[in-house]
Amino acid sequence: MTTLPYADRVGGLVGSVIDSSTSLLHKQTHDIVRFAMGSPAAEAVPSAVLAGIAADQLSRPDAYDYAATEGDPPLHEALLETLRGTSDETTADRLTITAGGMQGLDLFCKLFVNPGDLVVVESPTYTNGSATALSYGAQLLEVPVDDDGMIVDNLEQLLDGRRPKAIYTIPTFQNPSGATLSLDRRHRLLEVARSWGSMVIDDDPYGLLRFAGDPLPTIRELAAGDPLVFAVRTFSKIVAPGLRVGWVDTAAELQPLLINAKQAMDTCTNLPAQRLLAGFLRGGHLEDHLVTQRAQYRRRKEAMHAALQEHFGDIARWTDPEGGFFLWVTLENGVSTAELFEVALAEGVAFIPGPAFSPSGRFADALRLCFASTPPDRIHEGITRLRRAVNKLT
Ligand code: PMP
Repeated sequence: MTTLPYADRVGGLVGSVIDSSTSLLHKQTHDIVRFAMGSPAAEAVPSAVLAGIAADQLSRPDAYDYAATEGDPPLHEALLETLRGTSDETTADRLTITAGGMQGLDLFCKLFVNPGDLVVVESPTYTNGSATALSYGAQLLEVPVDDDGMIVDNLEQLLDGRRPKAIYTIPTFQNPSGATLSLDRRHRLLEVARSWGSMVIDDDPYGLLRFAGDPLPTIRELAAGDPLVFAVRTFSKIVAPGLRVGWVDTAAELQPLLINAKQAMDTCTNLPAQRLLAGFLRGGHLEDHLVTQRAQYRRRKEAMHAALQEHFGDIARWTDPEGGFFLWVTLENGVSTAELFEVALAEGVAFIPGPAFSPSGRFADALRLCFASTPPDRIHEGITRLRRAVNKLT
C-alpha cells in the first residue's frame, strides 16, 4: 500500500466478486456456459426495436444534451403511465430516474447511512447492495432467508436490543436465492420497521418477471405511501443492463434531496439511454416483451431443474423460484464452491460461489446459477460440465 492520504471510507470499498466475474469471463477464450452474471438472455434484449427507436430519437442533437436531474420528461411521463394500475403506480413527485438500481442504493445510503449505523441485510444477499452500505461505513447484520424470504421473526433476537437504521430486502425472486418474501412476512417487515423507525429498502428488480404462482403486492404498495419505504427499481433485468437506467420511488419530501445528491454525483442519468427507454415504453413494447421473456425464463428454469435432478440429485438441493433469474444450489458432499469455481471454469462452466453473497463469507457449500441467459440445451451441457467438475474434487 502506498502512503496516499486515503479517506477512512476506503476501508469499506470491498468490491464485487459478482461484477468482477464479467471481466474475468470476457478474458476467457474457451467455450464457457455462463451461469454467472445476472443478465437477460442476449436474444431477449429487444435490440431491433431499440435500434428503430434510436434511428428516430438519437438522430436529434438534443438527445445528447444534459437532462433534468430528476429524469428526462418523456421517460418520466412514459414510466408513470406504464406503472399506472400496477403495484408500483406512483406520482411524479415520488419518481426519480437513476443510473440503474445501483445508483438508487447509493442514493439511499448517501441520504440515510452514517458511519456505524446498523443495516440489516438478507443472508444470502445481493452483496453489491451490502457493499454500498459498507462504503458509507454501515455495520451489517445478516438475517437468514428461507423459501419464504427473510425470516423476519428472527430479526428481534439477532438485533439483541439494537435498532437498525435500515432493512435491505430483495423481496421478489431474490438475488441470489430466488426466494420470494411471503405476504405475511411483507406485512410483518413493515410492522417491525415502523415500530423501530427503520427505513426499508425495497429493491425489486425481478418482480415483473414472474412465470409461476400468484403475484404479490410490492412492499411499497403495502406501505401505502409510508415515507419509511424507499423503493429501488431498474430497467436492467426487464430491458437491458447496459443502458444503466433505473428509478427510485420515495416519499415526495425526499426528491429535492435526491436531486441535490445526484447533482453532486453525476448531474443526470445518460440522456440517450433515457430517450431509448421513453420510446420503448411509449411504443407499448414493454408488455409484449415481458410476456415473451417470462415464457422463455420459465422454460429455462425448468430445463435447469431437470438437468440438476439428473446430475445433482444425489449430492445437492436447490430452490424453485417462481420468476426472476436465479437458482441457489447447496451441495451436500462437502465440496467448497470457491474451489469448485476454478475447476468448473476449466471444464467450461461459470457460476458465482456462495460466499460472494454474504458479507461475512457464509455459504461455502452453495452457489448461484443464473438460468435466464442460457438456452435449454446449453443449460444441460453446463450442468453436465458442472457435475464433471464436482467429480474432480471428490
Ligand atoms: N439489486 C439487485 C437485487 C440486483 O440483482 C441488481 C442487478 N444484479 C441490482 C440491484 C442492480 O441493478 P442495476 O444493474 O440496474 O444497477
